Formats: sequence, structure tokens, C-alpha cells
Amino acid sequence: MTLKKRETMLVCAGRSKKYCQGSVNPVIQRASSIVFETVEQKNIAMQKRGERELFYGRRGTLTHFSFQDAMAELEGGAGCVLYPCGAAAISNAILSFVKTGDTVLMTAGSYEPTQAFSNQILNNFGVSTCYFDPMIGNKIIDLVKENTRVLFLEAPSSITMEVPDIPAIVKAARRVNKEIVIMLDNTWSAGVLFKALEHDIDISIQSGTKYILGHSDAMIGTAVANARCWKQLRERSYLMGQMVDADTAYMASRGLRTLGVRLLQHEKSSIKIAHWLAERSEVFRVNHPALPGTSGHVHFMRDFTGSSGLFSFVLKQTLSQSQLAHYLDHFSLFHMAYSWGGFESLILANQANELNAIRPVGAVDFTGTLVRLHIGLEDVDDLIADLEAGFKRI
Ligand SMILES: *Cc1c(COP(=O)(O)O)cnc(C)c1O
Repeated sequence: MTLKKRETMLVCAGRSKKYCQGSVNPVIQRASSIVFETVEQKNIAMQKRGERELFYGRRGTLTHFSFQDAMAELEGGAGCVLYPCGAAAISNAILSFVKTGDTVLMTAGSYEPTQAFSNQILNNFGVSTCYFDPMIGNKIIDLVKENTRVLFLEAPSSITMEVPDIPAIVKAARRVNKEIVIMLDNTWSAGVLFKALEHDIDISIQSGTKYILGHSDAMIGTAVANARCWKQLRERSYLMGQMVDADTAYMASRGLRTLGVRLLQHEKSSIKIAHWLAERSEVFRVNHPALPGTSGHVHFMRDFTGSSGLFSFVLKQTLSQSQLAHYLDHFSLFHMAYSWGGFESLILANQANELNAIRPVGAVDFTGTLVRLHIGLEDVDDLIADLEAGFKRI
């Protein structure tokens, strides 16, 4: 059969007879112990453990295998490791490849807890992290050393939304260091809008908490690896005790089935709102990869097949704490909460001086208040009306 298109794959992936046993969705198999009928069966399970063979709960059950197969197919990898959340996926993926004396190269502007993990935990084990501007392009070559074990990218940057030239960075890094393991926090694209492994990235990591689960009611992390890195990632993550319960794996599978249509709506509404914001006199800048003013917009147009619903904008004004409270406390549709990727719209604000994580050079050229929006599935004109009422309050 010819290659399946994206929407078809999202509906079909992981739904083999073995996993569904006659129903549409995979079975929920809850297990710690797996019962072997014979010594021979136990020995076969032992030999094939880790390869979608029932062995012990921590190695997964049919429910996990179904979701893992689906993710590996969607992202074009050799396999997918599951974690209890995105932060665990990130830390365990890095820990699976570094040793004392190595360095990690990391995009400045990557998710703040990723940076904190590197600075506070990796650092304790003698693994140092060097941050680079996401717009570095092939100049990354100057930073890649023999002991650079992991190159960790995120696209677009959390909060400030720059889109790096991933093909240039990857190519340059591999030219100097053949052993380097390249990872991408691919949460924003849901692993769908940017095909990391096709761009020669070794491991595509997601907080499945966001778009895959899609309903703000559970957490999961995924890491899809290519053939080169799959076994090491799988075995080391296993040794570090990484797994999720079958119910959450089931919910993640179910999330995939509607991911295609949800993303289309997140894209359509977020772009409409981003354009609307760009016209507002209160707004200094809109950081949305699909808008020409955003750093790396050309890379976005070249490498991504669409946009999701998370972006930010900067106000001309720096709101005082009381102004900020007056602005944020009274939205009717936009709720204040961490996380994103659900069906509902969210809003959070940062003052420029509150961004703790290391930021790319170009991103700190603002003094106003930065507002991050996640555009959910509500009617877009209702959302615009809510934002307009917000502007009236400042
Ligand atoms: C939320 C998030 C994470 C962490 O995921 P959790 O599931 O909350 O642990 C990692 N990376 C990015 C870009 C995120 O937005």
C-alpha cells in the first residue's frame, strides 16, 4: 500500500487486531505480573522483552504496545518509550546518553524546567550544558566539541517562539561529531507538523500531556527514536523505571484519533487571532511562527506543515502588578493555567525580567509584558471579543 496520509495514519496507527481484539480501540490491559503457561513461554518472553512482548508490567502491556506502535509509525521511528510526563521524557532521554565529562548543547529559550534539569542535576554529575542562540544556524559548528554528547533543540522556543534552522544545525553538528545524539522537544508540533526524524534528528520528544492527550486531564511523555538510538534509549529508560499506567496509555491513543482535526482548528484560530493582535495599538510584537515578523518564520514555512495553537505577544506597556491582575483576572474564556494543548484557551503573562530561563539574544529586546496564549477550540470570534475586552481593562 502507498504511504498513508497524516489524518489516515492518526486514525489507524496502532489499531491492529492483536491490540484491539475485536473492538475499535485497543484493550486496556492493566498488569504488573504477566502469567507464563510454560517455562518455554517464559524463556521466549525473556528473550524478546522490550520488543512488544508481554514480560512484566514495567515493560508494558498490549495497551502500551498499541500506543507505542502508533507513535513510532507517526513519527517514523524504530520505537517509542513512554514516560509519566514530558519532563521525565526529557530528563531520561538525556540521562540515557551522557556520562561524566560530556557536554550538552542546548537551545537557549528551551522549556525552563529542561534548563533547570541541566543546570541543577546534570551539572552535579559533571555534565555541563552550553546554551546557544536558536538562530545560530550552521555556526553551531564552533560549539560542537568531541565531548559534546547531546545536542538538545526545541522548536519553536518556549514562550518566545523562535524557529531555528534545524537542517543547518543538524548538518553542521554531524559534520564535526559523528557520535552526537540530537534530540528535539517536539511538543509544539505534536510530532505531526514537524517530522523530526526525517530531518535527521535522533530522538523526538513530546510532552503528550499537551496535544496528544489534548484534554488537560492526564499526563504522559513520549520519545520516539531512530534505529541508531532506540535500544539504548529503551533499555536505559527501563533501568530508570520509566513507564506509565495502561489507562493513561489508552487515553493517549484515543487522543491521537482526533489530533488531526483539533490541530487544524488550533491552527486556523491561532493564526486569525495572531493577525488580529498584530493590528492592535497596544501590541509591540506578536511571536507566532506563521507570522512574518517572528524570528525563523522562513524556517517555519520551509520545514513545518502547519501551526498549532500556542504563541505569545508583547505589550508596549509593562503592566504593574495591579494592572496585570485587573487584566488577567477577568477573562471569561481564557483561563490562567500552566500547560496547554487542551481544547480550552489559556492565558499567562510574564514580565520581561521574570523570564528565568536563559533566553536567546534577540528575544530580550522587549521591556513590556509578555502574554502567552493557547488558542483552544472555542469560536474564534468569541475569543477575540474576550481579548478585546481585556485590552479595554488596561
Ligand atoms: C509542558 C512541556 C513540557 C513538560 O511536559 P509535562 O508533561 O508537563 O512534564 C516539556 N516541554 C514543553 C515544550 C512543554 O510545553
